[in-house]
Amino acid sequence: PTPLADAYRDLAATIVAHARVDRGAYTKLTYLTDRIGARLAGSPALDRAIVWAADALRADGHAVTIDPVQVPAWRRGAESARIVAPITRDLVMLGLGGSVGTPARGVTAPVVVVRSWDELAARAAEVKGAIVLYDVAMPAWTEAHGSGYGDVVPFRGGGASAAARLGAVAVLMRSVTATSLRTPHTGAMRYAADAPKIPAAAITTEDAALLARLAVDGPVQVTLTMSARQDPDVPSANVLAELRGRERPDEVVVIGAHLDSWDVGQGAHDDGAGVVHVMQALTTLRVLGLVPRRTIRVVLFTNEENGLRGGRTYAATHGGERHVAALETDSGGFAPRGFRVETHGDAAVRARLAEIASLLAPLGADTLEDGEGGADISPLTEAGVLGLGLAVDGRTYFDIHHTAADTLDKVDPQALADGVAAIAVMAYVLADAEVPLVPTPTPAP
Ligand code: ZN
Ligand code: ZN
Repeated sequence: PTPLADAYRDLAATIVAHARVDRGAYTKLTYLTDRIGARLAGSPALDRAIVWAADALRADGHAVTIDPVQVPAWRRGAESARIVAPITRDLVMLGLGGSVGTPARGVTAPVVVVRSWDELAARAAEVKGAIVLYDVAMPAWTEAHGSGYGDVVPFRGGGASAAARLGAVAVLMRSVTATSLRTPHTGAMRYAADAPKIPAAAITTEDAALLARLAVDGPVQVTLTMSARQDPDVPSANVLAELRGRERPDEVVVIGAHLDSWDVGQGAHDDGAGVVHVMQALTTLRVLGLVPRRTIRVVLFTNEENGLRGGRTYAATHGGERHVAALETDSGGFAPRGFRVETHGDAAVRARLAEIASLLAPLGADTLEDGEGGADISPLTEAGVLGLGLAVDGRTYFDIHHTAADTLDKVDPQALADGVAAIAVMAYVLADAEVPLVPTPTPAP
């Protein structure tokens, strides 16, 4: 028994019992995914999602603010890829977000298959004038390591510029997933300032393996055609909603998620689930008449996927306010396991977080691990704010992440409701604790 957990045990049980049988989050997610769907920054669908979210939060009784944000407007356009020698076969592909297009006739070139940065460098002579395929397999999920996403995603982000420096004319990326039903996975890429901008696309793991097998026996040629382009920035917005604190309303606990998604699928797990997690967590507390000492603020960030402009603008606009903690949910709507925490080396704060998390043991959501809370809150946590990220059972998340298969049917209503419960309890205690859990960074040794 610990003082903090004991003080909130009954309240936590009340919140969990209410949230577990409430289907409000799933109802909201059904509208967001089926009626609005994919919502890339700069799209009319994201504009509709912003209006919908603000209306839904107001309908639940919250005070809503719309903060304008300028966002990039990347357009995919028509795209295709095809093996033209030694066989002819269409490849299943998705251009990477931020990529430039090709000339209208496409780019046709020999394929050089590499599996590491070292191999790219070693084969520099062949890369000139070629299409580089990064055939880097993502490791399978394990309990100990989690997903292997972080191991492989640098190739997606920086592979184009690394190849372009050696004279490549385009890059193909084996999709960042350990499991595939011939589904291509898009995602963001960035151009370095010192390299020519060449087109970049993801292909399926199956098609990457086919190209690699063909390349063992001799030259392979691919034609890549993309009409992607970057339009000028357009207006978008973050949506904020508050449950105002009863004693120290100027002290804020942020609970956030990103409202934008990629332009394929429905953005159901990424990050529609997170959006409705935080919306419904705030509503749960309001319905139960629970008003914490400090303010709990929902922030629905725009443009996480291909710019982080929402997160940066929030920090620039509101970073001067007293943020007690920032919590993000952007790992899918799966069963909650606990939280990743950024306590800036403060062991006492970590111990108190563990006390709060112990209240979530009935949900199986009582584990803490050190790790980044999330991209949207990173400008706050980098400034020293206590950061938390909802950790979930993520073993299947990257099977559908950034694909046309990220759809509502992949979300289990009970798991989603359990995530709401975990966030509502954590947010309430952080906002209500008599002594706030503000980290004091340990001085460098
Ligand atoms: Zn996300
Ligand atoms: Zn994403």
